[in-house]
Amino acid sequence: MNRANLKKEYLQLVATVREYVQEQLELGFTELQEPQQESPYATLDLLQLDADAQGCTRCGLHATRNTVVFGVGNPNADIMFIGEAPGADEDRQGEPFVGRAGKLLTDIIEKGMQMPRADVYIANVLKCRPPGNRNPQPDEVEMCRPYLERQIALIQPKVIVALGSFAAQLLLNTKTGITALRGEFQPYGVAGQRENAPMIMPTYHPAYLLRNPKAKREVWEDIQKVMAFLAE
Ligand code: SF4
Repeated sequence: MNRANLKKEYLQLVATVREYVQEQLELGFTELQEPQQESPYATLDLLQLDADAQGCTRCGLHATRNTVVFGVGNPNADIMFIGEAPGADEDRQGEPFVGRAGKLLTDIIEKGMQMPRADVYIANVLKCRPPGNRNPQPDEVEMCRPYLERQIALIQPKVIVALGSFAAQLLLNTKTGITALRGEFQPYGVAGQRENAPMIMPTYHPAYLLRNPKAKREVWEDIQKVMAFLAE
């Protein structure tokens, strides 16, 4: 392409951009906004979403899973607990938090909060078990997150207890570790992005409590804040 043609093309491009900006200003937009990508699951209800997840092959974990662990509990729950990924027991039974860590979570809910486990909703960031309980990989989290985001949008809890770093960092869009995050409420997602956004309470994962029983005291403090918030 010669210089004259290049210049002509450049000027055309500038004119197109100017036209677009003018149009946006006339429509009342004062900032340029990126087009929102709609979730592939935006029209599915909880049962349809679960059915879709049962056949999911979006990431490599489908090849090694025994079951898809979608989530359990009250679809109208005020409180959701969200962990990292299914372990061996969960992978066998198809239900989140049923192993030793799950028993501890059930105790926190039933003995601590005095609520039946069936009254809350429990899920994980990943719906399939990473082999050998290794950490979730970024591409797996990215592929699976539309399921969790749709679960949250459908259940519309008032509070989400994020169990451990992975859940807290994903829900709060941060790289800060759980020790610094825990104990303080923050709104779900980017601030101001959603009206009536659930509040996130990050706390330690029950599996961490099995290794560090002393941290139970801090988790109990966090849970008491959740109970006080729900009672307001
Ligand atoms: S982990 Fe999530 S994205 Fe990956 S196969 Fe399972 S359901 Fe699909």
